[in-house]
Amino acid sequence: MKNVIETRKLTKSYGKQEALRGVDLTVKQGEVYGFIGPNGAGKSTTIRILLGMLHKSSGEAKLFGGDPWQDAVTLHQRLVYVPGDVALWPNLTGGEVIDFLGRLHGKINPSRRKELLDRFQLDPKKKCRSYSKGNRQKVALVSAFASDADLMILDEPTSGLDPLMEQVFQDCIFEVKKQGKTVFLSSHILAEVEALCDQVGIIRQGKIVESGTLTELRHLTRTTVTVELTKPANLNQLQGVHDVSRMDEKWSFSVDADSIDAVMNALAPMGIKSLIAEPPTLEELFKRHYGDKPQRKELN
Ligand code: ADP
Repeated sequence: MKNVIETRKLTKSYGKQEALRGVDLTVKQGEVYGFIGPNGAGKSTTIRILLGMLHKSSGEAKLFGGDPWQDAVTLHQRLVYVPGDVALWPNLTGGEVIDFLGRLHGKINPSRRKELLDRFQLDPKKKCRSYSKGNRQKVALVSAFASDADLMILDEPTSGLDPLMEQVFQDCIFEVKKQGKTVFLSSHILAEVEALCDQVGIIRQGKIVESGTLTELRHLTRTTVTVELTKPANLNQLQGVHDVSRMDEKWSFSVDADSIDAVMNALAPMGIKSLIAEPPTLEELFKRHYGDKPQRKELN
């Protein structure tokens, strides 16, 4: 498989501020690549360099083997970009924007356009100035999914969507993937990345600190469990269980992803009255592994 995105020792400084300090990325054709990291890690800077909106300081960045800065015009015919906060022309309707953006990529398929508008429950007749953040995002997503671009670069594309629409977004990504297209997805929602991505790169302070498949990065994720048990129990002894606390019958703990099955089996005979299992958040992951403070700004 060809490399669609490749960066080597990519750096970018804003004056004295080193935003990227040697980023190595490889995204192959047909992959959904999750690009995750705390606020200020360098995600947007990397994306803006890949889009040819920003000049790198040093190192290499390639898109379809071309130079994102020199070859921006031709490269943009093959990609679509959805930012986290979509700005639209206030006097155009959503439908007009979708058609305009669509024409930049050739023809828009009218039945695909209608299908996407239905699925994202977007009224295309309203002026963009009246759209909420979520609706503006839907305009950009409909236009992106209606295009036949080879590469989708998505920078926190679902930060304004409700859970139902998040599901529609995920279904659309699966369809795009089936067509062999490549997706570069920056996200702070670990569950979204887990559901969609073949490969993940974690960026922190301008460097990739972990990369691989999610199975390879399983050690990073733990599920938080709160369970009420009616029978005597000692959860501290269970393999893969951490941070155990107890108040009367109610226990709380976190469990490694690869121990969930065994732990649930062990809990079953202990008389489960109620059980809540919560997926880990990215903020918890960074806090646990790198001692980072939770980034409140990034929470929905
Ligand atoms: P992320 O997208 O992961 O939140 P950014 O790429 O936006 O991170 O930022 C990386 C670092 O570069 C941060 O420390 C940020 O403050 C800094 N930075 C980003 N844009 C600018 C800019 N235009 N001028 C100066 N510093 C910037």
